[in-house]
Amino acid sequence: MTAKRLAPAARYRELVAAITEADRRYYIEDAPTITDAEYDALRVELNALESAHPEFVTPDSPSQRVGASGDDGGDPAVKLTEVRHERPMLSLANAFSPEEVAAFATSAAKGLGGREPELVAELKIDGLAISLIYERGTLVRAATRGDGTTGEDVTANVRTIRAIPAKLKESVSCEVRGEIYMPKTSFATLNAERAAAGLPLYANPRNSAAGSLRQKDAAITAQRNLAFFAYQLFEEPAPAAQSAALRRLHELGLPTEQNARAGLTGASAASFLTEWVEKRRSLEYETDGAVLKVDAVADQELLGYIARSPKWAIAYKFPPEQVTTRLLGISVEVGRTGYLTPVAEMEPVLVAGSTVRRATLHNIDEIRRKDVRVGDIVVLQKAGDVIPEVVRGIAERRTSPLPEFSMPTHCPSCNTAVVRDEVRHRCPNRSCPAQNFETLRYAVGRGALDLEGVGEKLLAQLVERGVVRRVGDLYRLTAEQLDGLDRMGSLSDGSRRDGPNRISNVLGMIEARRNRELWRVLVALGIRHVGEATAKDLATELQRRVPPTSGAGWGRAVLATLRSMTAEELTAIPGVGAIVAESIASAFTTGTAGAALEDLFDAGLVATPTDAASPAAGGPLSGHVVVVTGTLTSTGWSRREAQDRIVAAGGAVADAVTAKTTLLVAGEKAGSKRAAAEKLGIQIIDEAGFIALLGAEPSGG
Ligand code: NAD
Repeated sequence: MTAKRLAPAARYRELVAAITEADRRYYIEDAPTITDAEYDALRVELNALESAHPEFVTPDSPSQRVGASGDDGGDPAVKLTEVRHERPMLSLANAFSPEEVAAFATSAAKGLGGREPELVAELKIDGLAISLIYERGTLVRAATRGDGTTGEDVTANVRTIRAIPAKLKESVSCEVRGEIYMPKTSFATLNAERAAAGLPLYANPRNSAAGSLRQKDAAITAQRNLAFFAYQLFEEPAPAAQSAALRRLHELGLPTEQNARAGLTGASAASFLTEWVEKRRSLEYETDGAVLKVDAVADQELLGYIARSPKWAIAYKFPPEQVTTRLLGISVEVGRTGYLTPVAEMEPVLVAGSTVRRATLHNIDEIRRKDVRVGDIVVLQKAGDVIPEVVRGIAERRTSPLPEFSMPTHCPSCNTAVVRDEVRHRCPNRSCPAQNFETLRYAVGRGALDLEGVGEKLLAQLVERGVVRRVGDLYRLTAEQLDGLDRMGSLSDGSRRDGPNRISNVLGMIEARRNRELWRVLVALGIRHVGEATAKDLATELQRRVPPTSGAGWGRAVLATLRSMTAEELTAIPGVGAIVAESIASAFTTGTAGAALEDLFDAGLVATPTDAASPAAGGPLSGHVVVVTGTLTSTGWSRREAQDRIVAAGGAVADAVTAKTTLLVAGEKAGSKRAAAEKLGIQIIDEAGFIALLGAEPSGG
């Protein structure tokens, strides 16, 4: 690029500006615009220039500070109270190759007069660093790293994280540091919910963890399923080594990452790194590398510190798995809320364990910034090892000039002229068929009415035939309307109407879901900004205002209340902000939400109150971490329904079996999870046992 040909001083200034801006986007806004690998490359170049020209270095150079500069005039998404750390929280020097790791071991040995120190290797969890202060065993303060000297007070938010004990097992005073992170599955679920609610997606689990923690409202943090690993302890008397500190943390009741390994030499540490490049993919959390630390505290003290990091530790970054493939085309999808999303259609390629053919390109600005053109060879990676992401087009590999992509001027579904909302394009036609279809698809989805058997293909056929126009129509479906549809079978070919065929399965499933919890019905209306969490808050309030009665009347009474509620009244509900309140109020006054709800009731849907609006502390499953696997045949509950019941009974739900799991509910055809639970000696119950357990009276207290 031209930048590299600039005079060193000019290039240096350019790098400082680019890194400062990236830091602001990453640490303050939790929304990076470049990949970590690109960022690391800027840093490497900056370090090289600083070694060649030490006169360039100023106290505020990115090489001298931790995190984002506090006085950069940035506009943090939230302002939290600042707190000063008792001891600075530093960053770590990075290594990107085995050679750099070997150089670290050699230089540590040199610093210790030729004696090679013992090393500890810990997986580097990709979350955000937190400092926890315990006084006489009780958590009194939690703060983010911030600029290393001053962080943000997030005590209330941290108290909502189950993995962080409010009380230690011993009544000691100490500072614990560790990483707060978001498990991969929670990250994927959160982004799916955000996509459905038309909100911007988080780039990776690290940013979503930071965004979830740095909230004014701790209730939001509580919903985000954050987890934690401790890796540093300041206690008097101090443990003599890092390996001892890890054991002590565990003893105090703090979770530690179980794959850390002590007693390593430079050579065996290198094998640890190679071993984990692939193995890390099987973990439930994101790791972006491993941290090597000199074990003995006496040795650490001899080695000391440089400006922003200790000399006794180094963070080795795993190579991000990036692959290249050809961009065959860019299709444009119209979402539920009318936004047009450009999607990259690529030659299928294997990346981080799965085959990828499509990836969202978000909006036209992203396409321009990444310079992606149809016909290009593009660099592809998985953000947070989960979501495929096009990093950039490789302009150097174009053999002929390729035209830039433009967004369509008219909606690909209904041909209405599109309008531009800041960076995104939107189809303003409220009766756009694509929007209507997406609205229906959303309404039947897991987080809404959960009509499992009504898949995308069936829904498309029903819409095409004009049988289903709005959600309520699904509750009016007849066997005749399903007859002869693709993969539905036929009523006339010998399979009887009430026989065990697909038609009766679908109708039976819908019938079984005629009574739906109010919050599910509210989600199904597809009101902007009203996802599962908001719908639950709203339902709790409605349930308070309109005392539940049995039967169909309650839903209609709730609807009347909803129609009468003003935005101000809605704002008073915990968890409902001004924008959300406005959106709900207008959906019921000028929008179609009221009519859609009435239609659902006319079609026979019954809204029911939630049994336990909030998880029951002291419920039959309180203290349990439960995994559900296999098919629950006698109740017919979907996985999601079973999980909701576990939460209502006070339990916590996990997707994978780990050492933390305390109970496995194994339905029919339970496979690998059952085997894993057996191996770990975890209690396993069948569906009947599960029902019995849920039916048990809460133990109280
Ligand atoms: P770092 O990579 O220098 O590592 C230090 C951090 O590692 C600690 O603060 C802690 O949070 C974490 N950590 C996890 N496990 C640990 C363990 N077992 N022991 C000790 N620490 C552990 O982190 P940094 O200084 O926050 O950030 C630098 C990195 O952040 C860059 O290399 C880049 O990948 C990323 N970054 C990206 C952008 C971007 O725009 N994409 C911008 C800024 C930073």
